[in-house]
Amino acid sequence: MTPPTPEPGTPAPRSLLTRRGLIASTWLAAAAVSAAPLLGRSTARAAASAVSLSADCPPGTTAPVPPAAKGPAIPAAGYLVQEIADRVYWLTDGLYQMIFVTTAEGVVAVDAPPTIGNNILRAIATVTTSPVTHAIYSHHHADHTGAMVLYEGARFYAHKDVAELLGQTSDPNRPLPDVTFERHLNVRAGEDLLNLAYHGPNHSPGNIFISLPAQRVLMLVDVVFPGWVPFAYLVESQNIPGWLDAPARALTYTFDTYVGGHLTRLGTRSDVLIQQEYVAELKSQAANAIASFNPAAVYQTVDPTNPWAVFRGYLDGVAAQAASAVVPNWIDRLGGADVYTLANAYAMVESLRIDYGQLGPFGIHP
Ligand SMILES: [Zn+2]
Repeated sequence: MTPPTPEPGTPAPRSLLTRRGLIASTWLAAAAVSAAPLLGRSTARAAASAVSLSADCPPGTTAPVPPAAKGPAIPAAGYLVQEIADRVYWLTDGLYQMIFVTTAEGVVAVDAPPTIGNNILRAIATVTTSPVTHAIYSHHHADHTGAMVLYEGARFYAHKDVAELLGQTSDPNRPLPDVTFERHLNVRAGEDLLNLAYHGPNHSPGNIFISLPAQRVLMLVDVVFPGWVPFAYLVESQNIPGWLDAPARALTYTFDTYVGGHLTRLGTRSDVLIQQEYVAELKSQAANAIASFNPAAVYQTVDPTNPWAVFRGYLDGVAAQAASAVVPNWIDRLGGADVYTLANAYAMVESLRIDYGQLGPFGIHP
């Protein structure tokens, strides 16, 4: 992701699309981050270099999307709605996913991504004339629930931490829940059952497991990304140890279909295992990098009276070392491995340090 900048309107050179080229450019990108403070560039230049890694991915500079990451085409209407099990539908715009169940009592909807927005009610109307009677929050984040107001008149369900978090910000598009719970809640509608369970904080406080045992569907948002590496900084998760444990917890459920809330397709049990494998490798390489990265080079090349410059050089360097070991193994297996592994490595390194106490050279002074 540090390609030569093409002239405006010039197609990116095809040679960048080779696997070797991508691995090389990813390594260079990683090296650029670690080297920026080391080379003594101006702060602004170094910052721009780091930002470009996460913000600037022109066409032709990222790895081809692997077949496993591809999902069904999104119709011209901008959304796809499909029955995935008895009366259970998934609805997606290719970036976000939600589900709804058409029951004898009315429609039970889980989440309301604002990018799908008013297409949610249009999609539901293509399969039933019943109104939404039950609305469930997977978690409080507005990118998944910022259109919950569309379910006005329904009974709203959420974990109690979600109610608290929604209360802090008073977003009129995310109504406060009518029903909250701490550990488990069965939501019954007609002949259908949705089992809501909270197993402690993971991606966010109050992020719940939503299981439809009869239909063998499990929805758990912002934890597993079928076909793709997780979003940046381990999905910006607030409790990384809880987030790291959540896929194993998911596998204790009986399900055939996993709804992750994101991107191109639904998942299976095998997608959960694949993400566990990616994350385990990232964790092990992050630990290796903490143990082996030499901070002396950073001290020599930044202003030694600026502890933030030292820390930045150190953490960016450790993350880059971990990411460059992981990306080549995943570039053909998961979408976005070259785009977000560096950011994910950074979050993993920080979690190993501050959650797990693997402090490397910043541990207990001899
Ligand atoms: Zn979220």
